[in-house]
Amino acid sequence: MSEQKHECQDSSCTKESCEGCTQNTSNKNKFAVDMNEYSSVKHVIGVASGKGGVGKSFVTAMLAVLLNRKGYKTGILDADITGPSIPKMFGIKGKARANEMGILPEHTANDIKIMSVNLLLEREEDPVLWRGPILAGTVKQFWSDVAWGELDYLLIDMPPGTGDVPLTVFQSLPLDGVVIVFSPQDLVSMIVKKAVNMAKQMKIPVLGLVENMSYVLCPDCKTKVNIFGESKIQDIADELGVPSLGRIPIDPAISALVDIGEFERFDCDDLDHAVRILETIDKGIDEL
Ligand code: ADP
Repeated sequence: MSEQKHECQDSSCTKESCEGCTQNTSNKNKFAVDMNEYSSVKHVIGVASGKGGVGKSFVTAMLAVLLNRKGYKTGILDADITGPSIPKMFGIKGKARANEMGILPEHTANDIKIMSVNLLLEREEDPVLWRGPILAGTVKQFWSDVAWGELDYLLIDMPPGTGDVPLTVFQSLPLDGVVIVFSPQDLVSMIVKKAVNMAKQMKIPVLGLVENMSYVLCPDCKTKVNIFGESKIQDIADELGVPSLGRIPIDPAISALVDIGEFERFDCDDLDHAVRILETIDKGIDEL
């Protein structure tokens, strides 16, 4: 081990200089929020969209289910404070509890940990009539006050758009990367570009694009029907220089399982590539 040559707070550090080192306080993001002391989270992945209703929560939940099935310890932080849908998808109705460690996340049937504002409200249908700074503060508390325990992946269901709360998530949480979800409707390329450019400006790696509700699969002949026209995912991905992670069809089974809170039973292979990219982060790019 070479002798330490710079002023590091970590005595085992062997780096030549302080540049880029998080132990050096001058390199720390001044907006960053400290994680709860009872949390140990290996990777934080944001799932974002330029606008609401495109299936961002569905993609967040599906990625969590697929990672969980592969044996990774997985959690979902529902940062979509004004439109929280994660607990309902998994049939979680209880209220979050707290102890001396902090607020405790709820668990799904297969042990995915969940925290959402809906677990803190009196009734799940109560609206959240809070102004921007309170919404942003709540997201930060989901990181600082929730005792997540040990997790391989924490997926963040980001608030839609490019406003105050998504900005807070980008600035305060240590995101390893972000997946951008869109659906193929009007103005899509402009809206996707806004979301991608926001991540790029915040220096968060864009792991790739997912086109949800991309087509309908005919139940009889299995033909793909592009009801919104030809897919635009590859063109947009090429133009923005980011990977295309996959297309997901409109599938009535999704709404059916969400309605009864049994989303964890849903299966699809459309996000297998996205999951492999997330695993790349866990295994280290070099190894793959
Ligand atoms: P967002 O988080 O972007 O606002 P949601 O994930 O809540 O969007 O999805 C909006 C609605 O569309 C939900 O009712 C969800 O179950 C449904 N949905 C999402 N993706 C699909 C899909 N591929 N097929 C069918 N329904 C879908």
